[in-house]
Amino acid sequence: MRPGPDDCLLVIDVQNDFMPGGALAVPHGDEIVPVVNRLARVFSHVVLTQDWHPADHVSFAANHAGAEPFQMLALPYGQQVLWPVHCVQGTAGAAFHAGLDVSHARMVIRKGHHAGVDSYSAFLEADRSTRTGLAGYLREHGVKRVFLAGLATDYCVAWSALDARAAGFEAVVIEDACRAIDLNGSLAQAWQDLAAAGVERIQSARLLQPKAEPNQPN
Ligand SMILES: [Zn+2]
Repeated sequence: MRPGPDDCLLVIDVQNDFMPGGALAVPHGDEIVPVVNRLARVFSHVVLTQDWHPADHVSFAANHAGAEPFQMLALPYGQQVLWPVHCVQGTAGAAFHAGLDVSHARMVIRKGHHAGVDSYSAFLEADRSTRTGLAGYLREHGVKRVFLAGLATDYCVAWSALDARAAGFEAVVIEDACRAIDLNGSLAQAWQDLAAAGVERIQSARLLQPKAEPNQPN
């Protein structure tokens, strides 16, 4: 499997607050950084996302009296998980992991910047109607297939992959280039939803193995 000009690597939220020791740590999240760096080298087209909240963001438990992180809250657009304060605009926690080495990335999509709406997906905010502009950007660049890596598998990666499919792209999640939060069975549910939507699931070795000999099928 060799990425070509109509393929894009979409790297989701490789940010300090999602790393071990961060405000909303994804277990072993830092382990994906070298994998993402290797993957990025085989893609000419790389897009990064950055969770990017104002301090008064609706997804922060601290902004709801008496609420605790990880409880659910009914909001006008549906059920929202309340999170610890994370990825506040301009803070060190919102910065990309220092080891991320993808300087040729052409585009950074910042998401979750509306105070009243969360955005797990790189394509569509949690109200399911506000677009980030990513689908149009990818289409204008002739992208047909989106490969996904990053954090967390069962939230921002899964939602982005599902929305990539809904927007008409092929979508492939690179499992070992992601790590999960796995809250109340969310990881198993995410893989089920992804399979049902026709999202492919591969390991990074499929993309990183050396070029096949000319007379071998690849
Ligand atoms: Zn967030």
